[in-house]
Amino acid sequence: MRVLILGGTTEAAALARALTDVEVVTSLAGRTRSPAALPGQVRIGGFGGAQGLAQYLDAEGIGALVDATHPFAARISANAAEAARLRPTPRLMLVRPEWTPQSGDRWTMVPGIPAASDAVPGGARAFLAIGRQDLAPFAGRADAWFLIRSVEPPDGPLPLHHSVITARGPFRVEDEAALLAEHRIDVLVAKNSGGDDAKLAAARRLGIPAVLVERPALPEGERVGTVEEAVRWVQALPRPRRGRGAGAEGNERQRRS
Ligand code: NAP
Repeated sequence: MRVLILGGTTEAAALARALTDVEVVTSLAGRTRSPAALPGQVRIGGFGGAQGLAQYLDAEGIGALVDATHPFAARISANAAEAARLRPTPRLMLVRPEWTPQSGDRWTMVPGIPAASDAVPGGARAFLAIGRQDLAPFAGRADAWFLIRSVEPPDGPLPLHHSVITARGPFRVEDEAALLAEHRIDVLVAKNSGGDDAKLAAARRLGIPAVLVERPALPEGERVGTVEEAVRWVQALPRPRRGRGAGAEGNERQRRS
């Protein structure tokens, strides 16, 4: 059984590590220059749309597909759904639960990145914790200051007044609170990614409001929220039957022993 994991997330890496009795291929988009080491096979780069992914599933004899991409990676998830329809393949979405407001949170929910940029008040000192791919809508905001954090340095247009820090999570609440205080941040901007919520906890602790970008819609299909559930889904898949050759070989081996 070969299982293709569409990755680029902590959960995808954890699933690759947890699936010990199947052959795992993890696919990465190639956005990170030095991705963390993963067990099994790793392939990097786009497939060429849904058609390309369907062809890949066929050519590589993939028996099941787990879409464990980031909740904001909408295009690849749509492609995965379409590819699994074109080349019928069991497909599961592993999607971490989204954050929900707790007592003390001062959140403004917005439908997309441009709306998040509009929601930052003029004169604000904003912490932009949305990664490096979605910064363009903020480039025109010369009336606010931005602390931009991403795993790798951004390469697109940036707002006039900004400072960039590169760091990879997970982060500790204490460190996040210290960062917010050090830079005198008065608004946090984040995607509702779920998972490590240290920055939100720190903002709550300091009474700092947050602009949270709502998730894009997911395609239809079976969905779980944890790596453990995804492991059980894979384990419950019907295993491919041995070919006649393999069976005959096995019988022969049994007869010899
Ligand atoms: P996207 O907009 O949904 O995808 C754009 C294109 O990138 C896809 O059409 C596909 O190209 C290729 N692609 C994306 N994920 C891929 C994968 N796992 N393997 C092979 N090709 C992939 O995705 P994105 O938002 O740019 O995110 C790219 C990757 O970064 C994803 O794997 C995601 O899990 C990870 N990530 C994203 C975010 C985020 O905020 N968006 C945050 C953390 C990690 P083809 O059409 O040519 O196949």
